[in-house]
Amino acid sequence: MSKKYIKKDWKKVLTNEEYQILRKKDTELAFSGKYLNYKKDGMYVCAGCGNPLFSSETKFDSGSGWPSFWDVISKESVELKSDDSFGMKRVEVVCSRCGGHLGHVFDDGPRPTRKRFCINSLGLNFKEKK
Ligand code: FE
Repeated sequence: MSKKYIKKDWKKVLTNEEYQILRKKDTELAFSGKYLNYKKDGMYVCAGCGNPLFSSETKFDSGSGWPSFWDVISKESVELKSDDSFGMKRVEVVCSRCGGHLGHVFDDGPRPTRKRFCINSLGLNFKEKK
């Protein structure tokens, strides 16, 4: 049985740019995102539904042009799906709560996980640690 994601009127709750990423699986231009060089302490959440996704403690500079993390906050926060689009074998990262497209995960990240979650800034909001 397929999973039930929360539903919203996405065109109304998201900006057009966010909609293209989260609901249409588009990718923001490299080096364009607002969280690429963001260094504050806190938590990155889904821009669609607020689901906690990544801690600033796992953010690193991958040089790829997209915000990169070496782990997720919890295994339950995202779903990983195989993605064969554009002639590439990739693993898509999806918000487990709303099904929104966040980015992809690769196996060339740093220790301890060796993972690189390559995430669109437009799929994220930030909650600063107080
Ligand atoms: Fe979400």
